[in-house]
Amino acid sequence: MAHQSRNGVRDWFVIYWNRTVRTTRTRGGTDLESRLRAMTRGGALYEKLPEKKVRCVACAHRCLVADGHAGICQVRFNEAGELRVPAGYTAGLAVDPIEKKPFYHALPGSLACSFGMLGCDFRCGFCQNWVSSQTLRDPRAGADVVEITAEQIVEAARRHGALSVTSTYNEPLITSEWSVEIFRRAREAGLATSFVSNGHATPEVVDYLRPWVDFYKVDLKTFNPRNYRDLGDKLEPVLSTIRMLYERGFWVEVVTLLVPRFNDSESELRDMARFIRSVSPDIPWHVTSFHSDYQMQDRHETSARQVVRAAEIGREEGLHYVYAGNRPGDVGDWENTRCPGCNALLIERVGFTVVINDLRNGRCPKCSAAIPGVWTMEDVEAARACGRREAPKLDIAKLVADAEGKFERVQGGSTTRAD
Ligand code: SF4
Repeated sequence: MAHQSRNGVRDWFVIYWNRTVRTTRTRGGTDLESRLRAMTRGGALYEKLPEKKVRCVACAHRCLVADGHAGICQVRFNEAGELRVPAGYTAGLAVDPIEKKPFYHALPGSLACSFGMLGCDFRCGFCQNWVSSQTLRDPRAGADVVEITAEQIVEAARRHGALSVTSTYNEPLITSEWSVEIFRRAREAGLATSFVSNGHATPEVVDYLRPWVDFYKVDLKTFNPRNYRDLGDKLEPVLSTIRMLYERGFWVEVVTLLVPRFNDSESELRDMARFIRSVSPDIPWHVTSFHSDYQMQDRHETSARQVVRAAEIGREEGLHYVYAGNRPGDVGDWENTRCPGCNALLIERVGFTVVINDLRNGRCPKCSAAIPGVWTMEDVEAARACGRREAPKLDIAKLVADAEGKFERVQGGSTTRAD
């Protein structure tokens, strides 16, 4: 099956229903749940506790799970004192430009093979992948799954010319063990690897992933702690994750889906940009346009003018690389990469297409400044060999407490800035 995406880039859904992979199921309900229960194995990211209880550490919920019960994500469950975790299936497999993830400073112009499973530890009303992320909570979703091996996913990536494989569509942290199994095979085949994640991680899972994940994209959804609680948990672990990822040497890019009347006030955008800058001004920040989806049908899509203004705020706050996304051809220069030193145009893009790449060995051709990124497979290899980076000491608890004080609850349960 192939379809034409919004900006004209052709996607290939590499579905093996009738070819090399056996179809296992169908739509919705208990049939899906029982199938998913069968496609599990013993996990790595948990601690055994007395009375056959376990503590899962794959995400910052740190669920205490009693025998016979599942965690908040509903896909990891305790069976007789062992945490069973998803493995051996996919709910979606596609090959498309890495810019779609989006990664703009990692192997630009290459193809990425994306795979996803089911479930999420959050419940965002504006989720644009809700069919896979919320399928175990919402009977309208009705996603399909297919048994598949790690070797078959890597083979699909190679056959379609991808340079990387990406765990995406649902929240990859909750399926970390299965992703690592795929990434081990991908590394053997000479491919790069990445996570597209909500960043609701723990130090344990970040350390578990570090040997196997090259690029990590985090959604910073809001700087309002109360809004984060409505989505599923807290702001603090997401901020800590961004810092941890940077410190441990992942290539990190941050994305904020700009949702009108949710996270689009100038002061909130400034807080997000300031936080990213405090970790490193070289972390790319993508502000992307929302379109009505799932439970958030009561507002219009984000205009090009709004995402451009958000990008300008990022630049005013000192970020070196800010991009306006999901509005191909409508946001002027904000799809491009320029040298922060001399302003030379380095990479020109339209949507997910790289039109020009003028980088010379990762440097500006005009002033020779080194441009942060993982531009080639040689850079990927070099980045794997690097140890920890210097990261600033940040009092994230205080940052969150300060942010809490800036918002006040208003009628209807949503929140707004008090300043
Ligand atoms: S992944 Fe998160 S939500 Fe799921 S069981 Fe583990 S701690 Fe709980």
